[in-house]
Amino acid sequence: MSQEIEAIKAKLNIVDLIGEYVRLQKAGNNWKACCPFHNEKTPSFSVSEDKQVWHCFGCGKGGDAFGFLMEIEGLSFREALENLAQKTGVELPKYSARENITNLEKNKIEDILEEATLFYEKQLWETEGGKKILEYLKGRGLEESTVRDFRLGYAPDGWRNIAQFLVGRNYKIGDILRAGLVIHKEGKSQEIENFYDRFRNRIMFPITNPVGKVIGYSARIVPGEDESQAKYINTPETEVYHKSNVLYGIDKAKMSAKEKDWILLVEGQMDVIATNQAGIKNTVAVSGTALTLEQLSIIKRYTKNIRMFFDMDEAGQKAAKRSAQLAFDRELNVFIVSIDEGKDAADAVKEDVQKFIKAIDGSVVAMNYFIEKTLRGRNKSDIEDKKKIIEELSGLINSFSNKIEREHWMREVAERLNISESALREAQFELYQSKQ
Ligand SMILES: [Zn+2]
Repeated sequence: MSQEIEAIKAKLNIVDLIGEYVRLQKAGNNWKACCPFHNEKTPSFSVSEDKQVWHCFGCGKGGDAFGFLMEIEGLSFREALENLAQKTGVELPKYSARENITNLEKNKIEDILEEATLFYEKQLWETEGGKKILEYLKGRGLEESTVRDFRLGYAPDGWRNIAQFLVGRNYKIGDILRAGLVIHKEGKSQEIENFYDRFRNRIMFPITNPVGKVIGYSARIVPGEDESQAKYINTPETEVYHKSNVLYGIDKAKMSAKEKDWILLVEGQMDVIATNQAGIKNTVAVSGTALTLEQLSIIKRYTKNIRMFFDMDEAGQKAAKRSAQLAFDRELNVFIVSIDEGKDAADAVKEDVQKFIKAIDGSVVAMNYFIEKTLRGRNKSDIEDKKKIIEELSGLINSFSNKIEREHWMREVAERLNISESALREAQFELYQSKQ
């Protein structure tokens, strides 16, 4: 393996690789930048073109090209090796028989999904059915360049469009099944007639991993068609698609999130796309699930600050609270963006970009937001109201895994309610007991 590592290093210039992630400036023999791994205002991150290494004098991190990629993308050594081997065209020997098969298979699925995405894009731009969808997307305020950027597509109506296209490209139907693109009729043999397309007559939103490879789709029903069907259907769990760690838009958001040191979390893919078009690139959405710990650890690679923009309706607010609690547990800083009732991010952007950007700039510390919300319309000197307030806020306070933060909010809530901390603790304890 060391031979291949050397071959990769010989073909790769570390300055080009790191330059894809940080803005490097020439400084004497070396290159300098603000470190992507810690917060700083004056550059102490240095890259040596001669030695092909990097080092940060601020946080002490450093290494070669592999180490940089592992650190910045959160990859294992093997993943970084594969990534750079592909980039430089160096062929890697078989690792262990088993691991090799898994990697080969994984690549095959990714190839299939790439071909499928190109197919769906072509259908959107070059067919009559596609034109209708383009009009709908434009009606929602999307520009053509945005549609292309996010690689939106159209899965035409019919039972075997994608199946036949991919089989025609010499892919096996079993592999197309493993990519999640077709459904197998139960108990039937492996003939193509016994499979049918999962996505039919739908707008296709490709979902990518952090390095930009398509791993699956979220597919929206064509507006005006049989709306009794599910509005969105997603790729099922496959070898490359795991819904608990999908973050829609992460490939486009990550660098900007790192630069700005915050990320915007919205509810749906249309919200991500519209927000991107408005110039806010550091935006992601969870796709058809509640926020998970896996998603939070991906976000944490890039920033510790999350601004959440959820619908102002009850469901949206509940999701915001739940997501915030999970983030408190993971020691992330949460801010809430609030805007006039009932609007999602996509609508808000379409209506008034400046107002939307202002709302994001004016996001407030999540706990303050929840405290305000809980106190609103309640009488702090009424004993029943007071109990309800304590009950609602206790869950939030207790979700902080950091003791200092927990203490801080305990004190804050006691002050706002005009009671002592010990009285607040006692009340919490009573509530806890009454529930046992
Ligand atoms: Zn550093």
